[in-house]
Amino acid sequence: KLYNLVQDLKGNIRVYCRVRPFNPGQETGLSSVEQIEEGTITMRLPSKYGKEGRKPFMFNKVFGPSATQEEVFSDMRPLVRSVLDGYNVCIFAYGQTGSGKTFTMTGPKELTEESLGVNYRALEDLFLLSDQRKDTTSYEISVQMLEIYNEQNGINVPEASLVPVSSTDDVIQLMDLGQTNRAVSSTAMNDRSSRSHSCVTVHVQGRDLTSGAILRGSMHLVDLAGSERVDKSEVTGDRLKEAQHINKSLSALGDVISSLSQKTSHVPYRNSKLTQLLQDSLGGSAKTLTLGVLSTLKFAERVG
Ligand code: ADP
Ligand code: MG
Repeated sequence: KLYNLVQDLKGNIRVYCRVRPFNPGQETGLSSVEQIEEGTITMRLPSKYGKEGRKPFMFNKVFGPSATQEEVFSDMRPLVRSVLDGYNVCIFAYGQTGSGKTFTMTGPKELTEESLGVNYRALEDLFLLSDQRKDTTSYEISVQMLEIYNEQNGINVPEASLVPVSSTDDVIQLMDLGQTNRAVSSTAMNDRSSRSHSCVTVHVQGRDLTSGAILRGSMHLVDLAGSERVDKSEVTGDRLKEAQHINKSLSALGDVISSLSQKTSHVPYRNSKLTQLLQDSLGGSAKTLTLGVLSTLKFAERVG
């Protein structure tokens, strides 16, 4: 649904797409992305999906498999920087499990300077810019980590309180702690991370040194739960409940974005925990960026 919206989107909502590289050993001949060109991806679909078997998808921006973390981030930089001017910003990674959401937002397991994801780069950039403005404005930046699992029971990572941060090292430490806590609380469950929404929220307060005026901005950086459809005939119990909650919150998010883009008077924020949490960063003067990540083989299966 989010993928099909892009033609109608204006102004403050943008949709990017990132196509991740193949795993070593994956057959390149099986590629279903036929062409990546400016803002359009042309997919080659199994013939049952249309006469030509080809379908273009439009985005505000497309990153191919060779795009680096730095390249992906640099396109978001103006958005991130506007937080220091008092805007509310929301950046989502949306896609199936294994398509690269966590890679894009956080990075791979072994982090290096080059592989740092959006979360770290965004904060680093805020530190840099706030330092450049220190003669006129004094900024306080704090971070909160939150996990939404099973929709109605938002689970706070134990360290979910607002933590002031002033360097990338602070942020790395905090995120490590969040990850550790998350892993501890989910030992009974197999890879719960792909079935919960993981949100890093950044709060910024700036005080004008001359007038004393206060300005506030915020940024939600969201690694969404996997968007794959779960076959209801194959799961029961907790797994089915999880799938239903994910479905509900992702479709609520799609409904909110769709209603914002159509400028309808009622925006259905109340339909899920996720959209309630993000309400301040969706609509109004807030700026939203959805980054759809896809691993091509899986994507083709879903279209239609
Ligand atoms: P998701 O969070 O969507 O389930 P991950 O981010 O965990 O997916 O990605 C799955 C695997 O693919 C990981 O091993 C990750 O390091 C790798 N990967 C994802 N995107 C890229 C990319 N753009 N370049 C290199 N490796 C990637
Ligand atoms: Mg993940």
